[in-house]
Amino acid sequence: MFDDVADPDSLCPRLPSPLQEVAEPAFARHGVRLLLKRDDLIHPALPGNKWRKLAPNLRAAAEAGRRTLLTFGGAYSNHLRATAAAGRLLGYRTIGVVRGEELAAAPLNPSLARCAADGMRLHFIDRGTYRRAGSPQVLSALRDRFGDCYVIPEGGSNALAAQGAAELGEELRGEADVAAVACGTGGTLAGLAAGLGARGRAVGIAVLKGGSPHFLGETVAGLQRAAFGDRRGDWRVEARFTCGGYARTTPELDSFVAAFEQRHGMALERVYVAKLLLGLTELAAEGAFAPGATVAAVVTGTP
Ligand SMILES: *Cc1c(COP(=O)(O)O)cnc(C)c1O
Repeated sequence: MFDDVADPDSLCPRLPSPLQEVAEPAFARHGVRLLLKRDDLIHPALPGNKWRKLAPNLRAAAEAGRRTLLTFGGAYSNHLRATAAAGRLLGYRTIGVVRGEELAAAPLNPSLARCAADGMRLHFIDRGTYRRAGSPQVLSALRDRFGDCYVIPEGGSNALAAQGAAELGEELRGEADVAAVACGTGGTLAGLAAGLGARGRAVGIAVLKGGSPHFLGETVAGLQRAAFGDRRGDWRVEARFTCGGYARTTPELDSFVAAFEQRHGMALERVYVAKLLLGLTELAAEGAFAPGATVAAVVTGTP
């Protein structure tokens, strides 16, 4: 059906994304300015860091003559959703390898239903195989089944993704002393810190429990080596604000979100962005930011 695919720039992404100051009492009390880097406004179907990480991969796929994208995610993965939307909008076939063989028998949840509606072919695998999804054996079995695909790892985080996310850091250069982002697979933090340069500090707020901060840090460092040849920038991972783990919440997080939404009339994405802002608020209260500092929080997604 498609002879050629379109370049992601044909979707007219809103770049650089807007930067907005918000008056948050917990920051003002310590003489700290809070800015929101509105990456959620880049594109309605490919919001936030998903645009930044996917765009260079889509170009690489096109250059390599690949018309099929194959990638991995959990049942609620924003990355799968963004890949499916990119496929529909730009003319790629997409295959989503989903964690959890048992899901194949159940009705699709709204997130996976959206992927399917965008034309993504869903392939469910058991959790053990999924854990080895990057191994040559699993990949070659998938290639035997689906043909010659352009493979993007879970969460979309590879070297090209980190290079794409470096543009986010470049847009914040000179605008903020500290730039912070919520971390899943770490690709966005890897790029943000690299693009920010030597004068800014980057902080990653982990949202998944279990993987130690050390492990996430190793992943980020590995992505930086793959993308830039070496560790880049001044960054650290903060693992105290997972609120019980991925997609979990606590009464404290709920009341923080309700108060923030009321103060600013802006709905917060719960899985990542809410934890980022709660974490930064607690860090500000602990005096982690010097008076006079400017902190930029990257709004990576929409509710
Ligand atoms: C995917 C995602 C993240 C995590 O990005 P990583 O590069 O995997 O760390 C953060 N926020 C939102 C809204 C996301 O969808």
